[in-house]
Amino acid sequence: MTAKLYYDDLYAKEFDAKLISQSEHNGKFHIILDRTLFYPSGGGQPFDIGTLNGVEVLEASEHGDEIIHITASPLESSEVHGVINWERRFELMQQHLGEHLFAGCLWNLHHIHTQRMRIEGDNVSIDTDIPADLSAILEAEAAANEAVWSDLPVEVIYPDMAEIRELARKLPPENAIPPVRIVKVEGVDYVPCCGLHVSSTGQVGLVKITSVENHKGGSRIYLRCGKAAYRWLDSLYHEVRKAEAELVCGYEGINEKIAILKSQIHDLKIQNENLTIRYLKPLADSLLTKAETSGQFRIARHVMKSAAQDEIKHLFRLITEDKEAVAVLACANDEGVFVMIGTNKANKNIDVRPAFKKAIEILGGKGGGSSFSAQGWGKNSEALDTALDEAVNTLRLSK
Ligand SMILES: [Zn+2]
Repeated sequence: MTAKLYYDDLYAKEFDAKLISQSEHNGKFHIILDRTLFYPSGGGQPFDIGTLNGVEVLEASEHGDEIIHITASPLESSEVHGVINWERRFELMQQHLGEHLFAGCLWNLHHIHTQRMRIEGDNVSIDTDIPADLSAILEAEAAANEAVWSDLPVEVIYPDMAEIRELARKLPPENAIPPVRIVKVEGVDYVPCCGLHVSSTGQVGLVKITSVENHKGGSRIYLRCGKAAYRWLDSLYHEVRKAEAELVCGYEGINEKIAILKSQIHDLKIQNENLTIRYLKPLADSLLTKAETSGQFRIARHVMKSAAQDEIKHLFRLITEDKEAVAVLACANDEGVFVMIGTNKANKNIDVRPAFKKAIEILGGKGGGSSFSAQGWGKNSEALDTALDEAVNTLRLSK
């Protein structure tokens, strides 16, 4: 059995212990001591890391009443001096208590339950049983921060089950053997928990919601606490400063500037489209004049070098405004060959798909469409002339 020193002193960073056993498993060593400060994973809180006699502890986990320290090499001595990575542990304790404060406030104010919590790197996430709307979440966040600034003591108590049933935000698991460890912050939270927390709420520093998403009928809420919240705000600060410099405004004006830019982009797109149509119109007219007559249709064929897919689509529209026209168009650029074959939507007595299929097969590409319009991208740009010849032949035969 390993004595859990972390429950005796939350702020102890080093300890002495005796080696009970060590064994090799797949190149790693499992070390069991008579006592330890290394917290194993549990209750959503990740394990501690650190060193044992200078040997790095990669992970700590609990198996029955023993805590296993996993290392890359064995220990040389049975007298062990352990040091935990205090920076990591302190941040985990900040995050864990921050989560309790937020979850406690969400329960007290809105009766929304936390079903699961997890600390992963700088993120704390909690899953709620019912959807939590943003105003409720922000209200709980504000209340959690009030609790932080009140610098309340964090108590660890072992009350009887009757009191727990009456006061706890959450009941202990069915198989929990009393006494049950309760983490209590007067007026804010009362919950069974095996994890480690800073000893007063002020040490959490700050609780900040960063995002919310829907999750399995409830909400998944992401928050940052303590130093992790500070790091997040610091990176936001630098990003916002960059945006301020780019947009030449203070942070309050960023959204207004973005709205102006978006509307300018919209206007430019329309202007660009009108210009494209205007410059393509003479080409469309000349292609129609030169078009080969085949039965009741006229086949207008053209390849635009280094043009964009959009230009081909505009040209297609201009040509097929003529109800007798069938357009066989392509453009070749760095991305490959774009082919578009079709006619006016009103033409029911022609199916362009066999012609398109032939062309796209020769081009080694993919695509599809309807009886009046088919399009796709191919790779073999050197076979483009052959592909269009075959498409035109197929159209001639289908007249
Ligand atoms: Zn907890």
